[in-house]
Amino acid sequence: MKTVALPCGEEVPALGLGTWRMGERAGRKDQEVRALSRGLDLGMTVIDTAEMYGSGGAERVVAEAISGRRDAVFLVSKVLPHNASSRGTVRACEDSLRRLGTDVIDLYLLHWPGPHPLEETVAAFERLRRDGKIRHWGVSNFDTGEMERLVAVPEGDRCQTNQVLYNLARRGVEWDLLDWCGRRSIPVMAYSPLEQGRLKHGAALRRVAARHGAAPMQVALAWSMRDGRTITIPKASSLAHVEQNHAAGTITLSADDMNELDADFPPPEEKEPLDIL
Ligand code: NAP
Repeated sequence: MKTVALPCGEEVPALGLGTWRMGERAGRKDQEVRALSRGLDLGMTVIDTAEMYGSGGAERVVAEAISGRRDAVFLVSKVLPHNASSRGTVRACEDSLRRLGTDVIDLYLLHWPGPHPLEETVAAFERLRRDGKIRHWGVSNFDTGEMERLVAVPEGDRCQTNQVLYNLARRGVEWDLLDWCGRRSIPVMAYSPLEQGRLKHGAALRRVAARHGAAPMQVALAWSMRDGRTITIPKASSLAHVEQNHAAGTITLSADDMNELDADFPPPEEKEPLDIL
């Protein structure tokens, strides 16, 4: 399994497991727990969840999947922006910990920029870190200007990741955000790397996939973690998808593959507003 280093020096797998849309229906819970457990068996030990997903339901699914193997998991959750005040952040984190059935979250993110001053949210993250309730913190859906503002607040430079929408069809972050994060050794977490399962299988993607004896979605995942500084977190609730996604970790794309993909999925030619789902 390829790994990516966080600014603190800790290495985490480049390929993890998303959980959006999990925990929404009781009848699907067992299948979702099985899918996450299979991913963990295969070494995809970064699990990304959030208090928002299924209104806490996804965190409860995660709790079942990590039960008895918490130490092998790098657990990521997120606070909703409207909860991210001084006291609200701490309360939201404690609620997530209860739902997750654990006493520590490895990486706790602000889900997107919101109404509370960043100083307050960062101070609350730091308090949670000192109290041992989270090990690291980061942000999500922050564009370059927002990252600049973040690192300017006290202890804002302790940010360990920025989780953003990034896939073959959504390359706007390549204009400046990826380099900005790269210069500070802050890895990006690519969310919706399969465009929520709707990534178009154009001719180039199909040709590259055929050359690797792989499925187009596997090439899309290999592409999203190609640079060694991006963690990709596809969500899969079927075992077949989990296994296919895991196998994408062995695909190395050549310069020709990249050029061919660039023709169908061009990189940005100017600054674009940050894509958000
Ligand atoms: P995604 O991972 O791009 O796509 C998930 C969809 O693709 C599901 O319908 C899944 O089907 C399907 N799929 C998975 N593997 C596949 C494969 N090998 N072949 C074909 N289809 C496949 O979308 P996402 O869930 O939006 O993004 C991933 C994770 O990123 C989320 O779950 C969440 O943890 C995080 N996220 C964060 C934010 C944020 O604001 N920070 C926003 C969106 C997402 P099955 O489920 O049926 O297997």
